[in-house]
Amino acid sequence: MRILVISDIHANYDALEAVLKDAGEVDETWCLGDIVGYGPDPNVCVETLRELPNLTCLMGNHDAAVTGNMLWDSFNGEARRSLDWQQRVLMARNMEFLRSLPNTLQVRKRVSLVHGSPRDPVWEYILNTLTARLNFEAFETDWCFVGHSHIQCFFHLNETKNRVSLNIPHPGERITLEPRMILNPGSVGQPRDRDPRAAYAIYDDEACTWEPRRVEYDWKPVQQRIREAGLPEKHAARLAEGW
Ligand code: ZN
Repeated sequence: MRILVISDIHANYDALEAVLKDAGEVDETWCLGDIVGYGPDPNVCVETLRELPNLTCLMGNHDAAVTGNMLWDSFNGEARRSLDWQQRVLMARNMEFLRSLPNTLQVRKRVSLVHGSPRDPVWEYILNTLTARLNFEAFETDWCFVGHSHIQCFFHLNETKNRVSLNIPHPGERITLEPRMILNPGSVGQPRDRDPRAAYAIYDDEACTWEPRRVEYDWKPVQQRIREAGLPEKHAARLAEGW
């Protein structure tokens, strides 16, 4: 089966649309959370996802915050401004969808899925090999797919050498999965690895491959809608450079 793996859409519809088109036909879609927050299009992003066949979707920290499942203290002022706006514009049925999402580690076939990290599913960022090492102890499958950091990368635990490595793959490079790995498809709507193209991955559960991909989209209309909505300028500016 060909599975589309996406994360951190952050209410950026143009990026989501480009990813769905570029991915082509898939058997399932796995979304690792943060559908809303930052961007100008929370409703249309939730609606587009809900209509996808065979969707598995997790709750991210922004989804939890906007639905009132989490205190806002841990978000910075600009992120809060955006959450406050999204809370006002989100339609009831879309809010209900976000509220229904699981916020714990989920297992699908041979893979664990989580927004942040296996030991702290909504909040922890896996950004370095030390954090990755601690998290390899917190799930049992060979692979775990994570989002949250907005960085397209993967960690590999070599059990013979007892070493964890951090790898930044080239988009389009097909990686043969081996035990054990933590893989991040990157962010659809707000990449932070200095590549402004929308990020995602294709997982093939028969060939056991992972293909990180990037697709260009025009972010200028998204920036314009962010400005029109009176959302923080920073959230518009960063889209052009991927930070
Ligand atoms: Zn995020």
